[in-house]
This record gives sequence, structure tokens and C-alpha cells, in this order.
Amino acid sequence: MLGAGVIGASVARAMAKAGHDVLTLDRNAGVGDGSTGASAGIIRVHASDSQSSALAADSLIAWNRWGEFLDADDSEELARFVTCGSLILDAANGFTQRAAAAMREAEVPFQEWTLQEMTQRFPYIDFHRFGPPTSIEDEAFWGEPTQYLSGALYTPQSGYVADPTLAAVNLMTAARRAGARLRMSSTVARINLVGERVIGVTLTDGTEIGADAVVVVAGPHSDAILTHIGATADFRVHTRRLREELLHVAAPPEMDLGLQGVHLVDGDLNINFRPDGASAFLGGSNGDLVDEQTVIENPDQFDRMTTAAAWERGTLRLARRIPNLGIPRERSGVVGLYDAAEDWLPIYDRTRFDGLFVAMATSGTQFKNAPIIGDLLRHIVEREMNGHDHRDEPFRSPVSDREYSTAQFSRLREPREDQSRG
Ligand SMILES: Cc1cc2nc3c(=O)[nH]c(=O)nc-3n(C[C@H](O)[C@H](O)[C@H](O)COP(=O)(O)OP(=O)(O)OC[C@H]3O[C@@H](n4cnc5c(N)ncnc54)[C@H](O)[C@@H]3O)c2cc1C
Repeated sequence: MLGAGVIGASVARAMAKAGHDVLTLDRNAGVGDGSTGASAGIIRVHASDSQSSALAADSLIAWNRWGEFLDADDSEELARFVTCGSLILDAANGFTQRAAAAMREAEVPFQEWTLQEMTQRFPYIDFHRFGPPTSIEDEAFWGEPTQYLSGALYTPQSGYVADPTLAAVNLMTAARRAGARLRMSSTVARINLVGERVIGVTLTDGTEIGADAVVVVAGPHSDAILTHIGATADFRVHTRRLREELLHVAAPPEMDLGLQGVHLVDGDLNINFRPDGASAFLGGSNGDLVDEQTVIENPDQFDRMTTAAAWERGTLRLARRIPNLGIPRERSGVVGLYDAAEDWLPIYDRTRFDGLFVAMATSGTQFKNAPIIGDLLRHIVEREMNGHDHRDEPFRSPVSDREYSTAQFSRLREPREDQSRG
């Protein structure tokens, strides 16, 4: 296993539990210190397609019973899932209709709220229509709104995990309990092949490690590691690394977000914020292209400081929605990299080389699915190592009676056009 982020740890757990001999390598000193550590940890069940919605709903079962899911012992410090609900505003761009259809098909419960219901439940939020989203430099941003939003979807079961790194540590502890081995501070320099088959990896210190199968779960570094040996040559879905800023904004002092907070998905202003405990919001852009995307070539070289531009944009937009918000001058936040596919779906698949697998392009959305994705990768690896095409047999959820087609995550899929970020 190459990578000990939340997905790598989950795959290690599932493989070890199934009796495989697993060694996880990571170049960092700590588990979950890659893009997992920058994650907002939002666990939301709405999505653009029914399978993504179902996967999140299944993962929610695991997040809600985290200790039981992991077979953790009582002394273990566990990541905590906080239920706060998601309010998905109807931004008149078709997204809420698509998400509603997807949840209906996936049999994921949700509610459709009128403006009156939204206002009664969240009186501190201004539900005027400010959109379509504009730059804050645009005069239209400052105009006085005259209309109100028509409604929203509400999923009371959604929420967040405040400490994503701890969740990865928990998964890796469970993997080790099941027999997996872990070697940190070990950087993989090269994946080794004989002909079309993988035989192991070489570390930067020259150590060679043999393996029947290698699973690359290296987050934003995956693409470079694979491209180096030509393993992405047949990919039909393209990926790129995008710099993403999360802002940590103090809530008005009179508010208790533990009681009044909600995960606000606001395509009308292009923001996406969740409560962070009782007294702050954490979030940023909702992914509308009105904000320019920063593509990063080298995943080891990017600005890790919150920029003034992102801070102003995010806080001013949030202040339009929450008029009592004071805007602190001091910037606070987290910066990370999305390993993003052009259609915003992950790639969970084999590669053109026998024994070489990938869990990559997690596109800013897969922390929430980590508990289930470990087993999904196990299904892919076991099917392929036994000479079958993993797409021919559905993957059965370990926590429900749902079945999934792994073809949706194939490197060979035609990029879907109906997906959206956020
Ligand atoms: C700012 C931000 C906000 C996000 N918010 C959410 C959210 O709210 N909800 C959600 O569901 N998802 C969210 N995501 C996405 C989610 O965090 C990721 O999908 C997930 O963490 C990816 O985990 P991973 O294990 O695949 O990768 P990573 O956590 O990046 O782990 C990859 C590991 O590989 C190791 N590695 C890399 N190269 C090598 C090498 N050569 N040798 C050895 N080891 C190597 C790295 O050290 C790293 O530990 C967000 C992501 C970002 C960046």
C-alpha cells in the first residue's frame, strides 16, 4: 500500500481483515498528514448521482458507529462524527433537482423545505437571492437583493468529522490490529515492473520491497508516481491538482452553532460552510467557476497560507448570508490540494499493469466515503488478482444490502458531464 491517508488506511484495514499480508508505506512521519489533514471532514449524503449518494449514506452508518465499525477497544481515542444537517439552497441552477433525484433513486431520506420553513428554522440566515454568484469586485455583488430563494433541500443526517487525521489514525490502528504492517518516513521512488506485471517498489534510500500487488493511494502525488512508469497512458479521465483554501471564521458571539448551526451549501453565493464546534464556521468555495482555479504542477510546492483574496471573498459572501457576522481582520484557515478528476468522480481501478491498482482523484469529496472505499478496493484487487474484470460483479456494501457498480469509478469511463463539485 502506497500512502497512509484516510483512504490508504481504510484499504489497508479491509485487505488485512480479509487475510492479506499488507505493508503500508508513507513518506510522512504521521498517518493522515497529507490531504486528509486539510480536509473539512464534511459527511454529506447529497450528490449529483445516486451511487455517490448511496455510498455516502452507507459510510454514514460507519461514521455513526465508529468504534464498533473499527472493533476499537475502549481506551482508544476516536474521531467523533457530529450531526448538524446539510441545508442545500436552491440556487436556480438545477443542482437541487439533480441531487433530489439522486437521493430518491438511492433511497436516501431528505426533506424539501419552503422559504417559510427555512426562515423559521434558521432565523439568523438571510435567504434573499443574491446570485448568480459573482466576484466581489463586481458591482452586482453589492446590489440590494429584491427576491428570495424558492426553497432548499435538507438532510438532517449529514454532519462532519472535526479531526480527519484522527479518523485516518483510527483506521490504521484497526488495520494493524488485523495484522497490517506500517512503515512511515519511507518514500517510494519507483514502482518496479517486469514486463506488464508489478513486482514491488524501490524506496528513495534504495531499499527494494517485493509485492504481488501495489495499491497507489498517494493523494495529489499519485499522478506523478504513475505517469513516471506510463501507467496513466490509457486513462480516459484526466486529473489535476487544485489548490483549495478553507477559512476558519468566528461566529457572532451570541450564536451557539452547536445548537443553531448547519452545513450550508450555498450555490447562490458560491460558499460551502459547516459549523466548527459551537463558535466558528469552517468552509470556502462551493466550486462555481466564477472563482478562478489554481492548478498546481508540483504537489510539494504550493502556498500553504490563506490568501487575502480568498479570505475577503469567503467572509464577505458569508456575511451577506449571515448579516450578524463580524469579519475578523486576522486570517485563519487551512490550505490543501484536491487531486481532482475532470468529472469530479474518483478513480478506483486497476491500471494497465497487472497487480497495480489506484485509489486516486478523490476530488475533494472522498473523505466521507473512506470507511466503505477500503472494502471497495479490496473487491477490485481480489477480483483482478483472481483473473476477473472487477466491473463484471457488483460490489456488496459491508454495512447494508446495497450493491455498487465499480464501472462508475473506472479509469476507462467516459468522463460524466452531469457531475458537479460541492
Ligand atoms: C481542502 C480540502 C477540503 C476537503 N474537504 C472534504 C470534505 O469536507 N469532505 C470530504 O468527503 N472530502 C474532503 N476532501 C477530500 C478528502 O480530504 C480526500 O479525498 C482524502 O483525504 C484523500 O485521502 P487519501 O488517503 O487518498 O490521500 P492523502 O491523505 O493525500 O494521503 C496520501 C498519502 O500518500 C503519501 N505519499 C505520497 N507520495 C508518496 C511516496 N512517493 N512515497 C510514500 N508515500 C507517499 C503522502 O505522504 C500521504 O500521506 C477535502 C480535501 C481538501 C484538500
